[in-house]
Amino acid sequence: MKKIAILGITGSIGKSALEVIREHSRDFQIVLASAHHNLEKLQKIGEEFQIKKLVFTNEIKPKIKSKDLYFGEDELLKILATIDCDIVLNAISGSAGLQYSVGTLETGIDLALANKESLVMAGEIIMEKVKNSKNRLLPVDSEHSAISQALLGSAISEVEKIILTASGGPFRTLPLKDFEEITLANTLQHPTWKMGAKITVDSATMMNKALEVIEAHWLFGKSYDEIEAVIHPQSVVHSFLECVDGSILAQMSLPTMKIPILFALTYPKHIKSDIFKTKIWKLPALTFSKVEKARYPLFFFTREIACEKGILPTILNAANEAAVSLFLDKKISFLQISKLVQNAVERESNQQNPTLEDILETNQKIYAKTLRDYYKLI
Ligand code: NDP
Ligand code: MG
Repeated sequence: MKKIAILGITGSIGKSALEVIREHSRDFQIVLASAHHNLEKLQKIGEEFQIKKLVFTNEIKPKIKSKDLYFGEDELLKILATIDCDIVLNAISGSAGLQYSVGTLETGIDLALANKESLVMAGEIIMEKVKNSKNRLLPVDSEHSAISQALLGSAISEVEKIILTASGGPFRTLPLKDFEEITLANTLQHPTWKMGAKITVDSATMMNKALEVIEAHWLFGKSYDEIEAVIHPQSVVHSFLECVDGSILAQMSLPTMKIPILFALTYPKHIKSDIFKTKIWKLPALTFSKVEKARYPLFFFTREIACEKGILPTILNAANEAAVSLFLDKKISFLQISKLVQNAVERESNQQNPTLEDILETNQKIYAKTLRDYYKLI
């Protein structure tokens, strides 16, 4: 029986993870779980799965007492440092997830990482920690899970290119002249995946794919020239590996996060599971096309910034997080997301080899500055 901690258990990845664990209750036991706003849901999950430690990380501390319930970010880090646990699934959204990824890796527990922002902000620091310990870093993002599955049979040196697939989001075919009219409701209608609000907006701008390029760079040690993206609206192929001999490996299923979550928990084995099956003869026709620059400017901008490394990816991620939160609050239009992010990044200068403290501080500073930019504008 593997002991698991799930951070961000009340979200979309958390929900898929719970479905996996419900189906495999003999293989996995949840020993720790966290949430940030949704205390009632956290407690309900805690009761169903008999979780001994529940942490509500929000500063606003409700007046509830229970022997299984703990409060605050520091408390979660403290528990992570001492808990008897085999693997932590970090399913927190956004930059808030970083400190727990680092905390997990410092304790000697394996990290199943959904929180791609951790690698975007601090890829170098995280990979150094993985290199110097027995911990394994196991990707949960479906594209990176696909690559890790395809890599079971080949060494990374045999790979010429990693090709990440992208659905293209809800505006893949919308005429560019109609982008002014895009609403929040349209943006949250993802054609193939049901996910949390932030990543759904990032999928529409293709920022999500750009963050995944950075994630792939750190996870698999390939240069940015060796990582590409292709539009694949059916979301059946979860990524490709192009080998040096011209052979192309792919991993497929109908879109679901249950398979990559289960695989991260059982890596490097595929275990018997009826959790999700794909009937090949029912698949739609699969199509692939290039990413258009005019439609997805943030994708190309982020790739350029990523190549510069240092603190710039943190600046970009923080600006994007602030811009997406303004969009989710209906304060800015869809097109303004990209403008706000580019402005925020272009006026900052880079710093190479930032420490974790530099990264956390810059993240907060740029988030606040981007919000201030907006309020100055109105
Ligand atoms: P959701 O918004 O659905 O869930 C986020 C979770 O994080 C919730 O449990 C939430 O708690 C918690 N949380 C929110 N803010 C904080 C904070 N400041 N501190 C601590 N916990 C917090 O997100 P998703 O599940 O969609 O995504 C989670 C991560 O996984 C993201 O990094 C995303 O990019 C990545 N990912 C998601 C995929 C998906 O299919 N959803 C696919 C691939 C990657 P509460 O509910 O209490 O607010
Ligand atoms: Mg993904």
